[in-house]
Amino acid sequence: MALVSPSAPQHILHGVGVAPGIATGRVHVVDRRQRRHPRHHVDVGQVGDELRRLEVAWSVGRDALVQLQARAGEHSAILEAHLLMLEDPLLVEGARRQVAQERKCAGWAIEATVDEIAARFDALGDVYFRERKSDVAFVGERLLDALVVGVPQAVDDVDDGAVVVAHDLSPGDAIALSRRGVRAFVTEVGGATSHTAILARALDIPAVIACRGLLEHAATGDAILVDGARGEVVLHPSADLSARFAVLAAHGRARAEELAREAALPAETPDGRRVVLLANVEIPDEVGPAVARGAEGVGLYRSEFLFLNRVVVPTAAEHEQACAAILEGLQGRPATLRTFDLGSDKLSAAMRAPREQNPALGLRGVRLGLARRQALRDQLRGMLRAMARHSNGQILLPMIGSVDEVLAVRALVAEESAALAAAGEPVPARVPVGVMIELPSAVWIADALADVADFFSVGTNDLIQYTLAIDRGNEHVAHLYEPLHPAVLRALRHVVDVAHALGRTVGLCGEMAAEPRLTPVCLGLGFDSLSMPTSSLQAVKHVLRRFRADDARALVDRCVAESSASRIRDILREALAARGLGDS
Ligand code: PEP
Ligand code: MG
Repeated sequence: MALVSPSAPQHILHGVGVAPGIATGRVHVVDRRQRRHPRHHVDVGQVGDELRRLEVAWSVGRDALVQLQARAGEHSAILEAHLLMLEDPLLVEGARRQVAQERKCAGWAIEATVDEIAARFDALGDVYFRERKSDVAFVGERLLDALVVGVPQAVDDVDDGAVVVAHDLSPGDAIALSRRGVRAFVTEVGGATSHTAILARALDIPAVIACRGLLEHAATGDAILVDGARGEVVLHPSADLSARFAVLAAHGRARAEELAREAALPAETPDGRRVVLLANVEIPDEVGPAVARGAEGVGLYRSEFLFLNRVVVPTAAEHEQACAAILEGLQGRPATLRTFDLGSDKLSAAMRAPREQNPALGLRGVRLGLARRQALRDQLRGMLRAMARHSNGQILLPMIGSVDEVLAVRALVAEESAALAAAGEPVPARVPVGVMIELPSAVWIADALADVADFFSVGTNDLIQYTLAIDRGNEHVAHLYEPLHPAVLRALRHVVDVAHALGRTVGLCGEMAAEPRLTPVCLGLGFDSLSMPTSSLQAVKHVLRRFRADDARALVDRCVAESSASRIRDILREALAARGLGDS
């Protein structure tokens, strides 16, 4: 359907595309910042009443979240995090103190406490925590709604088929809006690592974030076009552009249908080479949709997500529950459970890690785990309990740089296993422990690591950053971040060759595995499995099923002999075009 708004001039905005897809529709602005609650001080005699209003707000707010959770289906874990946040003493006691000591009215007390917590997140200076502010704001709003009878929920009046335009959206909003048939999300702020972005991808709703100046130009009812892959947003589109987007949307739908037809077919090359295609998941809820899209298992569970959004370290029971949910959801398919990879860009208030000058080179991954042994022990105990109930799990260690680190964690695994046995609890029959190859040091001691590890999983997101000295989150050097740099390809080839010579399987779980244009390279390098976000599974399989493994090997032989990434890119482009895969 072409969508034109002739009255106003066309306005094109650019943000960051975080969930692909083309959407056309009418804007619905959700702007919470316009909502105001009366602020006033209360008399000493009214403090008791205001504290009771807070109690009511908590009880009604809790009910609202529980109801939302019941409707959230497989995404209910995020609402669970909101419920935990609602009970956090920082929030509960903070609001009570604002009433009792500052004598603020209940609404003002809630707003002031939410602002204080948001300021603390800001002070941590970390992108992840900045993004968590929208979660606290969401919880605060449920409380404020409970206080003010008759104030509509900001997202409740959104029409089916609208494109939601907002300053920021919380994951709770994303869930509520997806149930209302919203066509796309566009926000002014946010980051690609936010839960909202992750959810938009998981829910297949095109989304663009960091679209500056959006609310200055957009009003409810305006015609809008969204390209969630390229991060483009067009307000009041011209007839020409509308027609172009309509063609793109039709093309996208046809392609998705074509790819979906292959979901049940094996990931096998025309000359019979099977490559295991796996999903990367951050929360257990992602497992069902991944299997539905053809995932043969989970190649990477980023367990550190359980530590985010909270101020206390998860218990062994929480780890057990999350891991068991993944193992059970896979119904016998394999799952690789990574111990927490916190530090660098993923900080958890619960870990109280130090502020570092150079966090990517600091206390990260297994280094942090060995420095905070109790947290790691608790996680291992939870994983072992889940693996005792389900035999399809294996453990993966992030950021390994030495044999000693692997041995140290293996010793903890053995001790935790012995403790479970001593307490009469079941223990897993086998506990395969693998290592991530993400550091150049790990690449060059791959032979020694094969002696102490059962399998390898290569994390190219970090391996590229550490090989090329390019911060993976720094937009100033993003153009230099290059998976096809010959240094990267030679390192990858070395790791795969060593692993296979020593009888170890080796998978790839960085974003490189998710890029269909790079699939011939991953295939030719000889990886046994490729693990990626669910949304990429079908496109990668499409290429695999059309590219011979022996051609891919010859292609990689040529590529590693080249001296520049640009030349390698040309070779790859020609090889894809020759097989009709030019638009992959
Ligand atoms: C990687 O580094 O490639 C990887 C998969 O780990 P993460 O992206 O979680 O650092
Ligand atoms: Mg990594």
